[in-house]
Amino acid sequence: MKYYSTNNKKLNVSFQETVMKGLSPDGGLFMPEFIPQLEDSFIDSLSKYSIREIGLEVTKQFIGNEIPQNVLKNIIDDAINFDAPLVKLDDKISILELFHGPTLAFKDFGARFMARTMGYFLRNSEVELNILVATSGDTGSAVASGFYGVEGINVYLLYPSGKVSEIQEKQLTTFDKNITAIEIEGTFDDCQKLVKTAFLDDEINSKMKLSSANSINIARLIPQSFYYFNAYKQITEKNKEIIFSIPSGNLGNLTAGLMAKKMGLPISKYIGATNSNSIFTEFIQSGKYEPRPSVKTISNAMDVGAPSNLARIESLYDEHSVILKDIASNTHNDMQTIEKMKEIYQKYNYIIDPHGAVGLLALEQYVTEEKLDNYCGVVLETAHPAKFKDIVDSSLDCNIEIPKVLQKAIEKEKNSRFLSADYEEFKKYLMNL
Ligand SMILES: *Cc1c(COP(=O)(O)O)cnc(C)c1O
Repeated sequence: MKYYSTNNKKLNVSFQETVMKGLSPDGGLFMPEFIPQLEDSFIDSLSKYSIREIGLEVTKQFIGNEIPQNVLKNIIDDAINFDAPLVKLDDKISILELFHGPTLAFKDFGARFMARTMGYFLRNSEVELNILVATSGDTGSAVASGFYGVEGINVYLLYPSGKVSEIQEKQLTTFDKNITAIEIEGTFDDCQKLVKTAFLDDEINSKMKLSSANSINIARLIPQSFYYFNAYKQITEKNKEIIFSIPSGNLGNLTAGLMAKKMGLPISKYIGATNSNSIFTEFIQSGKYEPRPSVKTISNAMDVGAPSNLARIESLYDEHSVILKDIASNTHNDMQTIEKMKEIYQKYNYIIDPHGAVGLLALEQYVTEEKLDNYCGVVLETAHPAKFKDIVDSSLDCNIEIPKVLQKAIEKEKNSRFLSADYEEFKKYLMNL
């Protein structure tokens, strides 16, 4: 399989180069030259396979012979060492819990797979690799946890000061060894811009080997498609219209779902659920992409003003009208989010986090507008609610139990480097490493 850049369809690079570079030198995102088709017989018999076996079957198609199959199997078995259960709320709505990995968010799938894949490609290398990650919260801890202690790789996490939850900040800033947290006086978009600018900076690139671990890296997207197949496998009423609702920010998760559909998974609709940062919703409605600075919400991992994977989504479709066949989108604010969290707690005794609540709101609005009755709606629960303890406790008037892995991070001392959002300052920091 070869990969092209969304800025240059003629580019033709290997999977290894795609993964190690992260972002194409022309500023585009890498995409596979075609989306491989899985056999119908495989889709029909998904229930026979574990998520890891499904993952191996999917990944093989994207990697060809660049990683021997036994190695790839070990990478996947080791990376995806947790489950993604589908929990029924009622006859129509289920929650796909993607928070059973070590940092309690879906990003563990991508980060753990990517770390092991990069580790394999670097196995004979003498040069250290420096990974720059802009994070709105969960990416950073997933990437840090995935790469922690991996030889030959340093990770720099850039996060917006004061715009991630207290627990998220502890998860980001309490690693040591090869992980460094950098607190940026600015927004997530500022962090993302610093990282993107550094990648395109010749001076920096001649001094050090850089890579990215944001959802712009294709090695994060591929494993995120596994759980769409695995969720479909768990759906009992496959004759109904199946709708996935995805709490969206940088649109990596949605892109992975669309890729699963293009690989042959029979899904009727994907809903890109946004919070008040509704750039994607506006794009779906009007066909126009108008990025703007993000605003802070309680579903902060979705506070993205310039979603980078939109370029990938557009590359999957010929025109806007075709996009609309597969994707819907709508937006909800913080007040609606809190109301929904309360309602779900009261009605089902289930604690949903703010991101999942936005997904649920989007699903309900969509099925109401479309007057659908015979459907099976799956909401991706992208993080464990305890990661947002403050907002969950105050909204639901409860005291949510903190899982042990989180408790450990909370008890540690925060350790971060503070920088302004000025590129020259960041560059100086990197050049002096
Ligand atoms: C990253 C994240 C999102 C947004 O996912 P994208 O792939 O960037 O659209 C949603 N919820 C949580 C909890 C996240 O960490």
